[in-house]
Amino acid sequence: MLYKKIKKLLIGTNNKGKLREIRNLLPKNIKIFSTSDFNLKSPRENGKTFQENSLIKSKYFSKKTHLFCLADDSGLEIDILKKKPGIYSARWGGKNSDFKRAIKKVYKELYKKNKKWKSKRIKARFVCALSISYLDKKIACVTGKVEGSISHEPKGKNGFGYDPIFIPNRAKKTFGEMKSSQKYKIDHRFKAFRKIKKFL
Ligand code: IMP
Repeated sequence: MLYKKIKKLLIGTNNKGKLREIRNLLPKNIKIFSTSDFNLKSPRENGKTFQENSLIKSKYFSKKTHLFCLADDSGLEIDILKKKPGIYSARWGGKNSDFKRAIKKVYKELYKKNKKWKSKRIKARFVCALSISYLDKKIACVTGKVEGSISHEPKGKNGFGYDPIFIPNRAKKTFGEMKSSQKYKIDHRFKAFRKIKKFL
């Protein structure tokens, strides 16, 4: 395959939680760089889908560094909130990415929708679009999803973002209660990664 020999790869994210997960997924023979190695701020994400935003990031960071770039755009979709926060997942945390605040907003919106929301199963999923670009050229763009539901209250201190309120199907614990080694193997990022790893 033409792009089989990627030796150096930039991970295009300023989110430490994502960076940690993606590092763990990548083959050890690739030299990995992060956006903090280059002091790069994130671009404006004005796409309408996870895939569009992922490509905005991978192209932007690749053009800044002249490296192949792998970028992720991901988020939580809650069915009864019309798939919100969706591509706005990071923005629900405000300027300082305060996830306690984002989680409070989820509960507030659920309560607004239905005061008895706790008596229902609140279907949700995490979605991850991973893309690889070189300069302005898209090499690959794939999506992975993990289905689950919203817990009645935040549980667990592991992971990041909305992990404490998401219970994947067939599990009894939230992602926040799981060991990272357990979460990595079932989450949306891992599923997307399985589809894109042939390009690495
Ligand atoms: P963005 O892709 O940088 O726009 O941000 C995605 C946001 O979705 C993150 O800041 C998290 O809030 C949330 N998110 C994405 N993946 C995960 C995950 O694996 N666990 C918890 N929250 C996540």
